[in-house]
Amino acid sequence: MNMDKAMELGQHLQSRHLLTAETRCSQSDLDWLEEKGLVIRTPSIERKANGLICCRCGVTKNRYFAHSPCDKCQKDCVYCRSCIMMGKTTECGFLYEWTGPQMEEACHSELTWQGDLSKGQKRASEKLIEAIKHKSDLLIWAVCGAGKTEVLFHGIEYALHQGMSVCIATPRTDVVLELEPRLKKAFQGMKIAVLYGGSPHQIAPLVIATTHQLMRYKHAFDVLIIDEVDAFPYSIDERLQFAVLKAMRKKGVRVYLSATPSKKMIRDVSRGQLEAVKIPLRFHQQPLPVPSFQWIGHWQKKLKKNQLPPKVMNWMQKHITKKRRVLLFVPSISTMKKVTKVLRKHHLNVEGVSADDPDRKQKVQQFRDYKYDVLVTTTILERGVTIANVQVGVLGAEYTIFTESALVQISGRAGRHPDFFKGDVFFFHFGLTRSMKQAKKHIVKMNDTAEKEFSEK
Ligand SMILES: [Zn+2]
Ligand SMILES: [Zn+2]
Repeated sequence: MNMDKAMELGQHLQSRHLLTAETRCSQSDLDWLEEKGLVIRTPSIERKANGLICCRCGVTKNRYFAHSPCDKCQKDCVYCRSCIMMGKTTECGFLYEWTGPQMEEACHSELTWQGDLSKGQKRASEKLIEAIKHKSDLLIWAVCGAGKTEVLFHGIEYALHQGMSVCIATPRTDVVLELEPRLKKAFQGMKIAVLYGGSPHQIAPLVIATTHQLMRYKHAFDVLIIDEVDAFPYSIDERLQFAVLKAMRKKGVRVYLSATPSKKMIRDVSRGQLEAVKIPLRFHQQPLPVPSFQWIGHWQKKLKKNQLPPKVMNWMQKHITKKRRVLLFVPSISTMKKVTKVLRKHHLNVEGVSADDPDRKQKVQQFRDYKYDVLVTTTILERGVTIANVQVGVLGAEYTIFTESALVQISGRAGRHPDFFKGDVFFFHFGLTRSMKQAKKHIVKMNDTAEKEFSEK
């Protein structure tokens, strides 16, 4: 080991928080680095007065910890079950942090994107630059289809010019993969790191990552943009909130992007504890389609007999004869399979997708290319997917999986294209729920806000 080799390792280690196995170093290398003060190691699981804490993912509840015979310490050793999909943290193990010099890569960070921003986008874009300048957190509350990615461009450019490191984190790999080409096009020639489960490690001043990958970072980012803050699993997952705080540099700025912020976040805004900027109007300046409700009785019983309620069938047929595609959301994978089968029996040109379908990207693309008239889906396509000229139905909207925010997002799939802004949205149900009513109210309110702003100017 020598200093040159150490600096090379530092490229891999800096800003990160890694298990021994993730450092790519032998134990003797790590010991050398530690002796020279270039890394520090801390226990990966700590024993506190009131119990255990996993220092990588932050969980403290007993149910997350288990024992197993350990090869390293030859004892029955505690490990964390909560973050085990990212490698095992054990009571006898350590997490490593680079404390040597920070190596900055010369970065070319010119924004090559030259598109126009809508009035709402422009205001949010300016607010974002202000937030980065003054290091204050910001919520960008933008309706589905407002074009929130473009809102980020000038802020990112500003931050990179100041030598800040920027990360966009989002819960879903699908969204990471959709953002990658858009950002690469906006910042042509710039190095962008793209991180998700199974991707190789890269360093770059701009990182796009799944929220899970944040667990592997410590004091890494000056600007951390968290997309779809309300989306599963971030909102219900304290682990990821812990990871967000850990991955931020001191005095870092958090930027939340959402169409449906949580109640807590809205409360923070109204109390003046969080800055917010709203974009109530879509990029094409047309209001959001407002959902209609349709009671369809005990549809599960019908489905068992390989039938769908006539109201649902007629609604679909109406659109198909007008050459419009239908995106039909259902509450579960088994329902998706059954409904797809029934529709095929009725000679409809239909395909079904769900989270565990390895071909789902391809199927969605084929649906975009008009290969199918109907795509039956679980909530997996609830967000991040843009399909022109699509009508949206929810079968079984009374199911608890269809929360207010899920229904707002689902409704937001319709009418996104400027040429087809009048999308049809129907919630087919066996009993109205609070979530359904709130979702509708949410959409109507956003449209009202947009209208008010419009008439003021
Ligand atoms: Zn052990
Ligand atoms: Zn853990």
